[in-house]
Amino acid sequence: MAETEVVKGLWSGLGYYRRADLLHRAARLIDEQGWPKGYEAWLKIPGVGTYTAAALASILDAEVRPALDGNAYRVYARLSNWGQPIDTALSRQFIHDFSQNLVSSSRPGDFNQAIMDLAQSHCLSKNPKCSECPLIEFCEAGRAGTAASLPIKVRKVRVREELWYFGVLRKGDYFGLVQRPIGGIWSGLYTPVPLEKGPTEGGVECIEHRLSHRKLTLCMHPIAESSEVLVWMTAKEWRDKGMPQAFEHWMTKFSYL
Ligand code: SF4
Repeated sequence: MAETEVVKGLWSGLGYYRRADLLHRAARLIDEQGWPKGYEAWLKIPGVGTYTAAALASILDAEVRPALDGNAYRVYARLSNWGQPIDTALSRQFIHDFSQNLVSSSRPGDFNQAIMDLAQSHCLSKNPKCSECPLIEFCEAGRAGTAASLPIKVRKVRVREELWYFGVLRKGDYFGLVQRPIGGIWSGLYTPVPLEKGPTEGGVECIEHRLSHRKLTLCMHPIAESSEVLVWMTAKEWRDKGMPQAFEHWMTKFSYL
């Protein structure tokens, strides 16, 4: 089984580093304990949530469970013409019960995959193709003409803007780096030294980096020393051991790579 550092290096530049951690931990656990069987067993695998566990259990073990992600929620909300805001406990319970009653008991995996396919082919979030849909006869919203307005969403994702400072410590071709703690952003990867605030003097190099719910502005300041525990690496070594995508942007933009 590969070491964590090797996995992080291979994943470097792809973003969503937590997935590399989870995938690696999942592979280790399956290697030790064998292939999971059933929904509850899949839920114990790192990175597997309720949707993935239900999809795997229904496809691999013929367990009769709906696989509910955002696309499936949309299809079921329309099939039932559910007129309540979708992102509530009441709606989640309703969609769960409604879909649980619909899932084929003889071919649950095929059923879940058919719902996934329908969400991509006909039951699109914008401009659903109800007139061509094979389920129109069974679909409350399709027949009522309300499909395009469903599901009802109330909460919007707010994008937070944040300004982060980093100190760039160099000795020739080597950068002084710190390792991020496990968990959270850039888990276990290497970055320049985080600073509480930017020094008032010296050159500054800033880039913007978007995460799903955050817009980060990262400003790099040259510094002469640091009390942090440092690891010294060339740019290439850093990239091989796991360089967050944001810092790869910075290094490319300012010609360090
Ligand atoms: S009839 Fe329209 S709303 Fe209903 S499942 Fe088909 S595409 Fe979706």
